[in-house]
Amino acid sequence: MGVVLEKLPGICQKWPGGELVLTGVDFFVDWARKSSVWPLTFGLACCAIEMMAAYASRYDINRFGVIPRPSPRQSDLLIISGTVSKKMAPAIVRLYQQMPEPRFVISMGACANCGGPYYDSYAVVKGVDKLIPVDVYIPGCPPRPEALINAVLDLQKKIEQSYVAGNKISDRRPKTEDRRS
Ligand code: SF4
Repeated sequence: MGVVLEKLPGICQKWPGGELVLTGVDFFVDWARKSSVWPLTFGLACCAIEMMAAYASRYDINRFGVIPRPSPRQSDLLIISGTVSKKMAPAIVRLYQQMPEPRFVISMGACANCGGPYYDSYAVVKGVDKLIPVDVYIPGCPPRPEALINAVLDLQKKIEQSYVAGNKISDRRPKTEDRRS
């Protein structure tokens, strides 16, 4: 609670038996959104193993409020962890479109970023950002679980800076449809 009180932009007053905090609803809404990023349970290739390791007890990404959900309609983060084949591309776009706004995307690993070792393949998309907008890129083949944790922390900073109670304060990126042409 001490850290929270330090960051509060309102007034904290000492009262007998406790403290009274006066602040805006905006702060709490944004703080709650940033602190409860729920990724879709979704993996594509070997990078997904590293993502699963980040969820497991050794790295325990749940500490940061990251709890995987089995439905795109309950998720606000899509982690693209693996090779994006052209056959899989329509399914990725559909999942992204089924997620409610505001929604975020992490591109995990060289394959998701640019095609990676399969850059020359006729069957692989050269970067998932050709299909959907990406917020954070993680380099590596494969990136370690710590890299995913760092990406989530970066995303949390971005959410904190870009949103005020659900209203975008910056025009961050073009629409999905523009990227698919
Ligand atoms: S970046 Fe490397 S580890 Fe990740 S999916 Fe591609 S080949 Fe596998």
